[in-house]
Amino acid sequence: MPNFSILKSPATGTAITRKGGRLVVPDNPIIPYIEGDGTGPDIWRASVRVFDAAVDKAFGGKKTIAWFEVPAGEKAKEQHGEWLPNDTLEAVRADKVAIKGPLTTPVGGGIRSLNVTLRQVAGIEWARGTPQAERVIEFLASEMGKRIRPDSGIGIKPMSEFGSKRLMRMAVQYAVDNKRKTVTLVHKGNIMKFTEGAFRDWGYELAKAEFRDKIVTEDEVTAGASREGKILVNDRIADSVFQQILTRTADYDVFATPNLNGDYLSDAAAAQVGGLGMAPGANIGDDIGFFEATHGTAPKYAGKDVINPGSVILSGVMMFRYLGWGEAADLVETGLEKTIAQKKVTYDLARQMEGATELKTSQFADAVIGNM
Ligand code: NAP
Repeated sequence: MPNFSILKSPATGTAITRKGGRLVVPDNPIIPYIEGDGTGPDIWRASVRVFDAAVDKAFGGKKTIAWFEVPAGEKAKEQHGEWLPNDTLEAVRADKVAIKGPLTTPVGGGIRSLNVTLRQVAGIEWARGTPQAERVIEFLASEMGKRIRPDSGIGIKPMSEFGSKRLMRMAVQYAVDNKRKTVTLVHKGNIMKFTEGAFRDWGYELAKAEFRDKIVTEDEVTAGASREGKILVNDRIADSVFQQILTRTADYDVFATPNLNGDYLSDAAAAQVGGLGMAPGANIGDDIGFFEATHGTAPKYAGKDVINPGSVILSGVMMFRYLGWGEAADLVETGLEKTIAQKKVTYDLARQMEGATELKTSQFADAVIGNM
């Protein structure tokens, strides 16, 4: 039980734990959530109704979620004087699974992105003219014989065998668990051989070492091996994959890729299914699963009850699957699919469909629940 200074643990609910690396999910897990800024509250109000309805319908009252609001972003700054109180990080660490709405990134305020902090990903960068940048430039010139213009900003791109293999292990395991057909390593290894190229090589190594009976590589298939019952592991250069997902969409399934490629690719792929309002996200590490929409706060629509809650709702589907609550995940997916098939959609999808009925955020949630 964390020692909070501003938060109070919920009166009901039990923390999720880990035993021997596996998640142990009680019937009434505490799940911390961050409502988010801008359109976050509209989206959360709609999404949480969908989640609760799905759990109720799937498990007939045997399971319930003890939602635990934890502060971050503008609301936290207003109420607690801090953008990201330490208690929030403590709650997420203690409860192992959390879900968040979008958070504003204050521009130029000297504070690190809350989203990045919450995902615990740290970029290594120094601004032009700082002593650190000058020192690296001087080191590269004197020790490594590499000349860099003195007015350069510096970023370091480390790529480790440990991190690459961990990512690939998660990707292949995800494909196994979710009965996917292909895992594609996406990289820029033709140019960045010792980072992105090494990522590709380590990815293949891991797949062959740890999933030998479940996978077959593209080279092996070319040499005559059968794909039958196996997950195909292949690789593509990042630029080519952007046209491949448009021209040969059905050939791809799971991508394993470093952060920046994935950032671009996920928004491009979201456009193929209607836009950012339909693109869920998950940050899954060895200990914690942290689920979030891929879009931002879309501030011009804040408080208007019009924004598409689909991304957060689908992030919840990923969360349910992570918890092992597939029955609830299936119900939400069915509800969403039927609602969209009936052309009952929010403004963003309505403008791309003929004969659509445009619904408010809250009405869309009602329709999804009705269609479960
Ligand atoms: P954004 O909030 O993602 O919005 C850009 C556009 O994408 C919107 O104007 C809207 O397009 C569409 N869109 C986004 N979410 C949608 C949804 N749920 N339903 C339907 N359409 C949606 O990006 P931004 O305006 O660049 O960023 C605003 C703030 O969010 C910034 O402070 C940024 O740093 C932050 N941000 C946070 C996260 C995060 O929390 N993970 C991610 C990205 C950005 P139309 O106007 O064409 O309908």
